[in-house]
Amino acid sequence: LLQLFIPLGMLGIVYRQIKYALADMDLVFKLLEREPEIEDAPGAPALALHTGEVRFEHVDFHYQPERAILRDVDFTIPAGQTVAVVGHSGAGKSTLSRLLFRFYDPIGGRVLIDGQDIRAVSQDSLRAAIGIVPQDTVLFNESIYYNLAYGRPGASRAEIEQAAEMAHIRDFIESLPDGWETVVGERGLKLSGGEKQRVAIARTILKRPRILVFDEATSSLDSRTEQAIQQTLAEVAENHTTLVIAHRLSTVVEADRILVMEAGRIREQGTHQQLLAAGGQYAAMWELQQREGALSS
Ligand code: ADP
Ligand code: MG
Repeated sequence: LLQLFIPLGMLGIVYRQIKYALADMDLVFKLLEREPEIEDAPGAPALALHTGEVRFEHVDFHYQPERAILRDVDFTIPAGQTVAVVGHSGAGKSTLSRLLFRFYDPIGGRVLIDGQDIRAVSQDSLRAAIGIVPQDTVLFNESIYYNLAYGRPGASRAEIEQAAEMAHIRDFIESLPDGWETVVGERGLKLSGGEKQRVAIARTILKRPRILVFDEATSSLDSRTEQAIQQTLAEVAENHTTLVIAHRLSTVVEADRILVMEAGRIREQGTHQQLLAAGGQYAAMWELQQREGALSS
């Protein structure tokens, strides 16, 4: 009996880990052969993508009714701009990306892209418009070529190589003994956190979405790798509407607007300079991280 229980229990844990960690939900559902709970409205039209403006309009959200996660979250990412969200773990940052990708629907308020409530458009068209570089990237036990190509079925070899180059992972791939045919994932070559992030970035470049979401996986990256990844992300974000969920403040200095989240609410917002001048929570976090940085370098 015990032997039966252990594997089943582990499956539950693995499933939950995947579900939490991943923003690339299409992939999760394919892996688990499960239908998402969210369904298209009957006859839902495709999203009419114009400039790619993203708006969270007074959004309230909870996973369980007894615990509010987002409260009256209201902000706009103008087309082509970058909004960064900072705040402590558990503040609700990744939940924003889950709502934008429509893994869940808001309890109150709306999420809009180019003025359209995302609940009213087909999920395929919504998800085609958004590229998410998740906190934790899932790799198939397949060749690295396959793992990149997944970003856009039908992409040519040249396009895949170019995406790898832009994500600064092409040289690494081509230096492997088996090159592009190297099998990665749990049963193949284990990639480092930084390499996995670059695979995710390459997939996203290949997908060519108008809207980008980066959920930084900085906790698993050393600061040099993180800086290099940041540089790559900044290059990719140019001319895209971008939501960056940041753990280290050094990565948000250049954002057009920074939101400071605390317990599901936006407590402060502004540019880096404005928030420093305001002398609030952001300024205190900045001070602290500067000091930690000085100590560790
Ligand atoms: P952040 O990204 O800021 O660390 P999240 O948006 O991931 O925070 O999570 C906000 C809160 O919601 C956390 O307390 C987390 O434990 C909880 N949470 C996240 N996903 C789920 C879920 N699927 N079911 C229940 N609670 C969840
Ligand atoms: Mg998170």
